[in-house]
Amino acid sequence: MATHVQPLTLGGVEIAAGQRRNIDIRVAPMYTHDDLSITVQVVRGKRPGPTLFISAALHGDEINGVEIIRRLLQHKSLNKLAGTLLAIPIVNVYGFLNHSRYLPDGRDLNRSFPGSAKGSLTGRVAHTFLQEIVLKSTHGIDLHTGSRHRTNFPQIRADLDDPATRSMTEAFGVPLAIDAKIRDGSLRECAGDAGIPVLLYEAGEALRFDEIYVRAGVKGILNVMRSIGMLRKSRRARAPALPVICDQTVWVRAPESGVLRTLVALGAKVTSGQVIALVADPLGSSETAVIAPHHGVVIGRTNLPLVYEGDATFHIARYGRKVSTVEKQVERFHEEHQAASASDPPEDISRAPIA
Ligand SMILES: [Zn+2]
Repeated sequence: MATHVQPLTLGGVEIAAGQRRNIDIRVAPMYTHDDLSITVQVVRGKRPGPTLFISAALHGDEINGVEIIRRLLQHKSLNKLAGTLLAIPIVNVYGFLNHSRYLPDGRDLNRSFPGSAKGSLTGRVAHTFLQEIVLKSTHGIDLHTGSRHRTNFPQIRADLDDPATRSMTEAFGVPLAIDAKIRDGSLRECAGDAGIPVLLYEAGEALRFDEIYVRAGVKGILNVMRSIGMLRKSRRARAPALPVICDQTVWVRAPESGVLRTLVALGAKVTSGQVIALVADPLGSSETAVIAPHHGVVIGRTNLPLVYEGDATFHIARYGRKVSTVEKQVERFHEEHQAASASDPPEDISRAPIA
């Protein structure tokens, strides 16, 4: 690693070691005459170290990560940072304004990487974000939630064959991780091709904040920053339990159309053949069981109790014999974060504002 802090230019602005500032990166002109920009808060330590980007709202309605980044940026440990933090709370500004996953051209930004400088609007946003942020970083964490009406139990998704990605995943401190090798035009795939390890933290539901999952996200990012040498390791902190890794997940689909009653919680262990929900006719003339096809853990589910036949209802990570280990880790996770949120209000109003 370099012994002095390397120069960094973002959006045409040079940011020196020890500086902290907001930079607007111009993306594309709008038809209102204004230009659209993505705002990045750059926090540069005085000491050299990695460059970590933390991004949220690539899907504009997945806003849990916006709150995670807001809290992270108030954390006092950033005063003693080694290296550079690039925090981008809202990548898909259009979607965020419209409470939508997509951009106005109907495209999904996280399927549009690497994009192109002369392409459509979404392709240009992808291109600019890749060039200005991702390729200037050595590591990244991208924050997501379930899509609209769906919620995810906190999980890391990453390519766990890559040793650097795996070690960040182990440091984060959530109960489970999905080993996902994807070729889908996502930010994570594109960064991986460039040799930049990127984790996806998936937690909660679109258009909602979840206090426990937000806390777990902030803590996880700080854990990763300690593990890659950006923050000093705390002597008091207990090492997080290693996540139990799963490489196979399955969506259980509604066996018929109707009203859905859910019998298992998010994060619950399920066994093969277990009845996990019931779909009923609203007139009471029929009722059909939704059955778990494997031993596993519920990592995602629909919150909308109205389903058409074939709709995805429960997302189950297949765990086989390891399922009891995951169950214990899920319990421990809830105990740890629920206890913390009971003793500590979500907002610390005594904190000084950032200059
Ligand atoms: Zn997403």
